[in-house]
Formats: sequence, C-alpha cells, structure tokens
Amino acid sequence: MTHSTHSTVILGGGFVGLFTALHLQQQNYPYPIILIDQTERFIFKPLLYEFFSGEMNDLQVCPRYDELLDTEKVNFIRDRVEAINLEEKTITLKSGNICTYNKLVIGLGNCSGYFGIEGAKEHTFSFRTRQDAIALKQQLHQCLQKASHLPDAQQRRHLLTIAIVGAGPSGVELAATLADLLPEWYRQYGGNGQEIRLLLINRGSTILEGDINSDLRQAAKTALTDKPISVELLLNTSVTKVQPGQLYYQSQQQTQTLDAATIVWTAGTKTHPLIQSLPIPDSHRDKKGRLLLAPTLQLPHFPDVFAGGDCGTILNHPLPPLGQVAHQQGTAIANNLQALADNKKPSHVEVDIKGSLLKLGLDEGAANLFEQYVLTGQSAHLIRQGRYLTLLPVPGHDFQATKEWLSEGVFSINL
Ligand SMILES: Cc1cc2nc3c(=O)[nH]c(=O)nc-3n(C[C@H](O)[C@H](O)[C@H](O)COP(=O)(O)OP(=O)(O)OC[C@H]3O[C@@H](n4cnc5c(N)ncnc54)[C@H](O)[C@@H]3O)c2cc1C
Repeated sequence: MTHSTHSTVILGGGFVGLFTALHLQQQNYPYPIILIDQTERFIFKPLLYEFFSGEMNDLQVCPRYDELLDTEKVNFIRDRVEAINLEEKTITLKSGNICTYNKLVIGLGNCSGYFGIEGAKEHTFSFRTRQDAIALKQQLHQCLQKASHLPDAQQRRHLLTIAIVGAGPSGVELAATLADLLPEWYRQYGGNGQEIRLLLINRGSTILEGDINSDLRQAAKTALTDKPISVELLLNTSVTKVQPGQLYYQSQQQTQTLDAATIVWTAGTKTHPLIQSLPIPDSHRDKKGRLLLAPTLQLPHFPDVFAGGDCGTILNHPLPPLGQVAHQQGTAIANNLQALADNKKPSHVEVDIKGSLLKLGLDEGAANLFEQYVLTGQSAHLIRQGRYLTLLPVPGHDFQATKEWLSEGVFSINL
C-alpha cells in the first residue's frame, strides 16, 4: 500500500506528533494528514505516575488516538516505522506497507539508554510507557503479596527491596510516589511497611544534577527523607552489572552487590535508532546524535521535513527534552506546514519554558514558577495538576478531566 504523494505524514504520536495533527485538523489544511504510531494511545508522560498510582485513569493519561483525532481529517495508522528514506520520500512500516509523503514530521522521541551496562536492559523495569507502568505495578504487587506470606525475614527482605537507578526527575518522582504508595499497598496484604527498603542510586554526587529541576533539589531531598518510608540515597555510585534480582555497583572504589527483587532503570536516554540511521552527517547532529534543526524546525538539507521534541534540537539554541518544549514545537510545526500550504514562509519557532514542576508523592509537589517562585507541598502539587490538565489534548477531553478534578474538590483550597 502506498499513500498519496501529497500526504503530510507524521511519525510518532507523542507531544510533537499528536499536537501537530490536532492543530492541522483544526486549520484549513488542504492535504491528507497521516499519523503513524506503534501504539494505539497517546501517553501524557508527565502524568504517568498518576496513572501508575491510580490517581488518574486511562482516559485522562493515556487516551486512544481514535478518540482524540477527527478521523475524517487525520488518518491514524497503528504500525511500527522501520525505515525512513529522505531521498525517495518514503516510509517503510513493519506491516510491509510503504507510505509516500510530500511533507514529513518526525516526532519519534528518544529511548532508554543503558550505557552498555551488562544486564541493565534485560533485568530492569523501565518507566516510560503505559505498559511499563502496568508491568511495574504488577511486579510490585506480586512481591508484596508473596512477602506477606513468608515467615523468613531474609526472603522477605529481598522481595521488599526496590532499587531505582538514576536520580534525574523520573527517578526522584517515582521514588517519592513509591515511598507513599508501597507501605499502604503492603499494609493491605497484612504486612509492615517499615520492612520495605527503597533505594535511589545515582552515579553523580547529587540528585537532579544539570536538570531544569535543579532549583527544586532541596525540596525533593526533604520530601524523600520525610516520607512514610525514607528513600535511601546512594550517591557517587555506579551500577556496573545487573542480574535478575541483583545489581553490582561501585562505590568508593569497591564493588558491592545489592539484592533487590525489583530494579527500575531511569538512568539515561539515547537517540532513537531511526534518527541515528538517517543519512545526516555528525556535523548536523548534537553530541547525543540528535538532529540539529533550523529555527523553523526544518531539517537543513530537507526543507520538506520537520522534526522536534526529544529527537531534535535547534542549532546554537539547545533545548531540554521536555514535554512542554515538544508540545509547543508540535503547534509551531502545524503553523509552519499551514504557511507552506498557503505559499508563505515558515516562521522561526520560539519556545517559552514556563518553569518546572515535580511530583513528590501522592499529595506533594514542588514548583519553580517563571524562575522566580519556588513552592512546595500540596499547593505545588495542585499547581502541577492544574497546569497539566490545561495541556491534556483536545478541548472536550480537557474539560472532562478538569470537571472530574473539580468535583473531587481538588481546587478548593486557597493557593
Ligand atoms: C516518566 C516521564 C515523566 C516525564 N515528566 C515530564 C514532566 O514532568 N515535564 C516535562 O516537560 N517533560 C516530562 N517528560 C519528558 C516528556 O515526556 C518528553 O520530553 C516528551 O514526551 C517528548 O515528546 P516527543 O513527541 O518528542 O516524544 P514522545 O512523547 O516520546 O513520543 C514519541 C512517539 O513516537 C512513537 N514511536 C517511537 N518509535 C516508533 C516507531 N518506530 N514506530 C512508530 N511509532 C514510534 C512512540 O510510541 C511515541 O508515541 C517525562 C518523560 C517521562 C518518560
């Protein structure tokens, strides 16, 4: 199967791809629009912790593309992209189908990075997709349930030890969420939450290092210590090997082992293999191999191709891999595609980073607003939820989610 050569094809239905499609479908865009993703659902990743904890549901955090898109205007194809041919303007899909495009948008995101550490990919859980969240939740419930029946304290200890590798924002937010959830889940199986051991392991000397959230470090540290089970921070600690239920690490020049039934990997990302395989020279990539884009988000030698989000960055103006960046870029790409369709010039894209927000447990957050105000505790948690609710895709969906939160009285306190 091939598609019309006039088609605008969008690869990846994440923040870039979905918001490009949503904005194009609202405009008077004259060409067929095709969105291709390997899954049937958009994932609002900043709220994946809420999906994991049950604070929010599928409809809010992982809506299906066919519910979000106007299928008369956007043809959604669930398939895996296997190859991109920029010269021939074709996309090869896992099904064997080939799509031909006139304009292309690349929003394939990035992938987990394991730094070549033996066993890390095979024997750890990741936390990036809906399936990851479901698998981790199942694993933890199985461990807690088994442990609650075991009389032997040492066997219980192994099942009740959880290690998170990587103290960037994902590791910190997940640790804080688990520190609130696990004692409660274990209590429901009849166990004593104080037996749970939760470790956050980091190669660097501090948490949230070199991250947009670094101003929230102290708030995060305090939250991690004050939880019902305190999170143990292992800093300056490099994981060197992972086996099922066990990791090896180096600390103070000594190799040590840790028995942990559940090991979660949030330590790194790497450039998507399809981006790596594009015939773009190193001089047009950043150090991580991401695409260097023109200020209009076009590929310098392929003006019919736009990219953004975690798989690209702007020449001389690097941007962090954030949902708020990708979301704004998706909107801007749609506007530039419309401009080209109207025989106008595409505009330079300005991204406005509006501060940073962290989830620090079930009812707790930290917010750095406009680089000026730092808020912590429940008020920051509510600001974070409120901010993300305004970003949830399509007005109907947004309205429904907001209504549910309002009906629960979430916004009833004075900020
Ligand atoms: C747990 C977590 C929490 C986060 N929290 C925050 C936060 O609080 N604030 C913030 O600003 N950012 C946050 N981020 C980062 C943010 O989610 C990303 O920067 C953003 O999702 C990037 O958008 P994107 O469109 O580039 O890629 P993505 O949103 O990752 O979308 C890529 C899409 O491409 C699809 N895809 C990939 N490969 C293929 C293929 N071969 N074939 C077909 N489809 C494919 C994927 O299925 C996916 O739908 C978080 C990320 C994670 C993992």
